[in-house]
Amino acid sequence: MNLRIAIVPVGRMDPLEVEAAAARIAKILNTAVILRQPAPVPKAGDDPARGQHVAGPFLSELRGQLARLAIAKTVGVAPASEPAGATSAAADATLFVTDVDLYKPQTDGVFGDIDAAGHVALVSVRRLREAFYRRKADPVKARARLVKLALYALGRARGLPDCRDGGCALLTTTSLPDIDMKPEKYCAPCWRRMTTGAYRI
Ligand SMILES: [Zn+2]
Repeated sequence: MNLRIAIVPVGRMDPLEVEAAAARIAKILNTAVILRQPAPVPKAGDDPARGQHVAGPFLSELRGQLARLAIAKTVGVAPASEPAGATSAAADATLFVTDVDLYKPQTDGVFGDIDAAGHVALVSVRRLREAFYRRKADPVKARARLVKLALYALGRARGLPDCRDGGCALLTTTSLPDIDMKPEKYCAPCWRRMTTGAYRI
């Protein structure tokens, strides 16, 4: 069985930026990635006073909308063994990508959130962009960060735990320099779990 991955842009997130990351992820995971139609920005979690959204409720509302979002396109080539129509089946892991800033209670801001039970995850590109830190824009760096964060979030949405291998995208990361240090790949055990679904928490 092939790994079924779906990615959904949220709100005004640039679909081309998401597609570029999806193409890279498809290559790394050696599977086709489904891009769904953009989801509207959830009202849940909106905190106008902070100019941010609370990640948990934001992701919950997106998860509820998922079934209504049509498939926009498929990125990457599915292996020949993939039966026709398989892409419409429920994904093993779905990732929402937003450009709004997210936070969780007791934090200034977060890169995203995970709902492992629902097989969905959320990442924000806001804190991956140099502009957020008042530095010169670097789209190549921002895309690499998005790909690494997506690999982490998709792995967690698939039910995998954090990894302690410094050469693995599932390594726990809490800061931007940590993300920059990680490679755009999984270690061998995580890769096996990711592709076979042999590990569930
Ligand atoms: Zn690993």
